[in-house]
Amino acid sequence: MGLAYLGLSSAQGSPLLTDDDVMKGLAAPLVAQKLLGSVGEYSMLFLILMAVMSTGSAEVIAVASIIIYDIYQAYICPFKPNLKDGQCILCGNYLRKQKGDEDAELCTCKSADKCRGCEEDTKKRAASTGLVKPHYTCDVHGEFKEYQEHLLNYKNWCIVLCTFFSVPLCLFCWAVNLNLAWTYYFTGILISSSVVPIAVTIIWARATSTGVISGVIGGCAVGMTGWLSYASTYPGGLSAATFVRNTGEELPMLTGNMLAITVGGAICIIVTFITRWNMTPEIEEAEWERTRDIDNPLSPWVTKYKGELNLDDGENFHDRPPLEVVIRKFRAAKITAYAAAVLFTLFFICLWPGSMLSIDILDLEGFNIWTTISRGWAFTAAAFIVIVPMYQEINAIVKQVAKNKAESSTDAQNLAQGVVQPLQQNGAAIGMDAGNVNIGYQRTNKHDYIFQRLRNTLSRVVSISKSSQ
Ligand SMILES: [Zn+2]
Ligand SMILES: [Zn+2]
Repeated sequence: MGLAYLGLSSAQGSPLLTDDDVMKGLAAPLVAQKLLGSVGEYSMLFLILMAVMSTGSAEVIAVASIIIYDIYQAYICPFKPNLKDGQCILCGNYLRKQKGDEDAELCTCKSADKCRGCEEDTKKRAASTGLVKPHYTCDVHGEFKEYQEHLLNYKNWCIVLCTFFSVPLCLFCWAVNLNLAWTYYFTGILISSSVVPIAVTIIWARATSTGVISGVIGGCAVGMTGWLSYASTYPGGLSAATFVRNTGEELPMLTGNMLAITVGGAICIIVTFITRWNMTPEIEEAEWERTRDIDNPLSPWVTKYKGELNLDDGENFHDRPPLEVVIRKFRAAKITAYAAAVLFTLFFICLWPGSMLSIDILDLEGFNIWTTISRGWAFTAAAFIVIVPMYQEINAIVKQVAKNKAESSTDAQNLAQGVVQPLQQNGAAIGMDAGNVNIGYQRTNKHDYIFQRLRNTLSRVVSISKSSQ
């Protein structure tokens, strides 16, 4: 679109839009209108509508989830307010043996998918046709399930509220004539100081909360200071009349962004070392165990990754393989992730822009090659994004239908043979069958997951290249 706008402008001999209009993002609709007429106008309208609706709804849902699950559930009204680290959220007993308190009763809560009480509950609630479903009666999971249901209800209301609150925000942005390019760069200064701290919380056992928080706040403060002081050296300084223009200049914005991301990371690492210098392997393992305790007791991660880790069914929901096994099993995935991150960074930050810098003005052939590559890239990515989800959906439907058929035929068989066969053998057969289905299901899950990742990455790349055009 940007290229077409430049082409049209140079064909006409003068720019089609003023700089202000370009900053407002009007180049793309103008090109669509000039080249395709009313079809272009409508397709642009649909494009914007769909992009805004999908992004907007995702953002609103994300904010509502953060408010309810990360703030309300964690700090304001937790299920068990006095829960300590390492205790089961369902029964309140410790998950593992504690030092100094070896004979304390340990948690024996079962997984919800193997729980008799939960099975009964599901049946009863599925059978009820009324608006108000019967209460959960399972002794172990019932109360927690009820709590989660309330949270879900709150979250839905929170989504409605957030949607309404976004209206005055939009009106404000419109009233102050918000400059899109300025906002885009400014967001970087505001939030990029949290990039390294967030990564560190996941991959570094030593990281402390003090380190992470001071990295985020310190990086942001330093970025802001650098940005504003650089902008103040331009003619007019930071006065109201020239504030947006001076602070929107490329070099102050670049300085602010770079300072925020690097200083944020540096402060986070330095403060982490200050607050926790001694780190024995035992502390590190305890730290990872605490991380692994973050789990949903109704669908624990061990059940999800059972297929990949070749695990047997555990008795309790929190039974999990030792850390070394998990690390060994996911080593390939870890190396792939690291390698891909480094390669993509090199490609998008160094190679691609660098190759553009090496040529000052493209000749006709070079220009042709460049546009062909861009088009090839766009069409391949678009085809992938359109076809793969469709293939996945159809695949999932076919699989589910086959599974349903197999289940109903097993049920019929069991019913027919139940009378003549000894119970035990029958049970074993069902168990084996269910296990097989489960393994197959987990395999498809893994493939789905990889596809999903690929698709997300591609769509992100496409949207990045779109916005940079
Ligand atoms: Zn428990
Ligand atoms: Zn239960």
